[in-house]
Amino acid sequence: MKIAVIDNDKITVKNSDDIELLGRKGAIVKVLGSGLCGSDIVKFREHISGNGTVLGHEIVAQIKEINSDTNFKVGDKIVTSHHIPCGKCNYCKHGNVSMCEHFKSTNIKPGGFSEYVYLSEEHLQNVAHLIPTNLTEIEASFYEPLGCCVRAVKRANLMEKSTVLVVGLGSIGILMSQALKAFGMEVTGCDLLAERIDFLNNLGIKAVDSRELANNQEFDAIFMTSGADKAIEVALKNVRSGGTILVFSSTPKNTGYGNNEIYYRELTILGSYSPSPKDLKDSLELLHNGKVIVKNISTIYQLNDIQKAFDDTISNKIMKAYIKIKD
Ligand SMILES: [Zn+2]
Ligand SMILES: [Zn+2]
Repeated sequence: MKIAVIDNDKITVKNSDDIELLGRKGAIVKVLGSGLCGSDIVKFREHISGNGTVLGHEIVAQIKEINSDTNFKVGDKIVTSHHIPCGKCNYCKHGNVSMCEHFKSTNIKPGGFSEYVYLSEEHLQNVAHLIPTNLTEIEASFYEPLGCCVRAVKRANLMEKSTVLVVGLGSIGILMSQALKAFGMEVTGCDLLAERIDFLNNLGIKAVDSRELANNQEFDAIFMTSGADKAIEVALKNVRSGGTILVFSSTPKNTGYGNNEIYYRELTILGSYSPSPKDLKDSLELLHNGKVIVKNISTIYQLNDIQKAFDDTISNKIMKAYIKIKD
């Protein structure tokens, strides 16, 4: 089977041995396609993942072989995520499921940018779902990234009708804005790129140029989906005193929010990282019932062109890449 691996400063497609269940519980799935996540870009560019790593986790797949106590069967088209919390450790008990050791150690193997993937029984039991018939393969690939956004909205724990500014309108900003709206918030998005501002406006959500914000500290909450250090300034100038800043992205210089600003203005700064099985289920529901529209966000690349997908994402040429792997 073909897999795409990190090979120093590039992504190389190569042949690897086929995988089989060989008596294991779980399933071998044919990967129809896989979304390219911002975290894949960071892992590649910052050399966080080593050579030989197969990135990709936003998969849409079809079951090829299965040995499971679930009702899934050969031929079923499914979405799944990669990590599963144990539900029992101190992190899990406090709701910090994405910090759980088991969560971090579980994965789909070898990774989403591969023609076939092994899913454990645990994946099938907890985070795999049949694709609703009204969703296309590419729409379904937003199951995991939208799940991350759902988690962030829940963690911020805002009152309904709170005013929220989403800073950064890449694909995640577009999903986040819609998720916030679905949860009853009054959303404004901002970005520097005109086409991204237009994209959100066309979905019926107000979006403005970040340079045109009034900087009058009026928003109840700011959601930081931008990966730019400068965006931190935008957040502090636009959050109201007593408000919340939700951090949803790493930034290159790892600069932060001032201690005294947090203290005197009674700000809540919190991070949100990766979704729970329930957040994912809610995400699929939002896609299924059309509360979140993901049409025209993705650009399709064949597995052999995966390097170009990475390059085009890094240079902001596209919003989101979908790697088409098998028919
Ligand atoms: Zn992702
Ligand atoms: Zn746990």
